Amino acid sequence: MHSSSDNRNKSFKIGKTYVRPGESTQIQLEAASLFDYTQLNIPVEIICGKLGGPTLFISAAIHGDEINGIEIIKRIFQKTALLKKLHGTLILIPVVNIFGFNNKSRYLPDRRDLNRCFPGNAKGSMGARIAHLFMKQIVSQCTHGIDLHTGGLHRTNLPQIRACLDDPQTAALAKGFGVPVVIDSSLRDGSLREAARKRKVATLLFEGGEALRFNESVIRAGVRGCLSVMRHISMLPPGKSSSKPAGKTFVAKGSYWVRAAHSGSFIASKRIGDEVKENERLAVISDPFGRGEVEIRADDGGIIIGMSTIPLVNKGDAMIHIASFTNTKHVKEAIDLND
Ligand SMILES: [Zn+2]
Repeated sequence: MHSSSDNRNKSFKIGKTYVRPGESTQIQLEAASLFDYTQLNIPVEIICGKLGGPTLFISAAIHGDEINGIEIIKRIFQKTALLKKLHGTLILIPVVNIFGFNNKSRYLPDRRDLNRCFPGNAKGSMGARIAHLFMKQIVSQCTHGIDLHTGGLHRTNLPQIRACLDDPQTAALAKGFGVPVVIDSSLRDGSLREAARKRKVATLLFEGGEALRFNESVIRAGVRGCLSVMRHISMLPPGKSSSKPAGKTFVAKGSYWVRAAHSGSFIASKRIGDEVKENERLAVISDPFGRGEVEIRADDGGIIIGMSTIPLVNKGDAMIHIASFTNTKHVKEAIDLND
């Protein structure tokens, strides 16, 4: 039989700071400085459980205007009673792109996308340096990761997980998160998720809502999903029998964007999370007098997982993102339950 001292957690070292088992500490990663030499730091909270277990990072706002994840991390951090039961180490990084966040922008000051700068290097551009710092101080010390995103500016997404499902550990994590829609997504060059995967850190990307907005149902789904993953990898004790178990997940067969067939303004007849049938009407585009109506229809059935929130389009603009599934009805039921 193991005594509990056998499974005592190790101290976590970050920079010159040691966080000991049972302690929680905030440190500032020195990321860069402004023109006037003001230092800009990435705040990192490290919660080191008394007992051993996985090391999980949860990061947000690597795209500085995607703020739902910041609120998700805040609410997880406020669950102090629950976090007292933590096994292993939890690392919370609510704002990775501090420049973008402070400018309400997705990008770094040089317009680089930080999520295309990974794994970075110590002598490259600002993005490369921040990516390198993040990999060295955080990702390289973790076993698992969750990177929180939202849809881009003026685009909203149904809560969904994107993950590389050909890795069994990552696929299990995606199932553990428990949102209905899972997209098997091959990695993009230079993303945090790709760099983490190369280091064998199983990492999920959660995506939901719209940039520069707090979407309450998305935030709740994110908090629930992160805690569910933590239970799944035994960082937290199982939920009470009265609490809702992780929802069913469905992997999309594929997805496509419906594009505007004409420039104009549009009125949508469907909402995010709706089920659509092949050839069903999704929206009507018209001129300012309501003339020249152009109906927009679905090429294929599925679930609406993303939508433009600006009702003004140029011909060819992406309007509605539809994912297809083997059994759309079951996915729709799970979405309604999850809401
Ligand atoms: Zn993003």
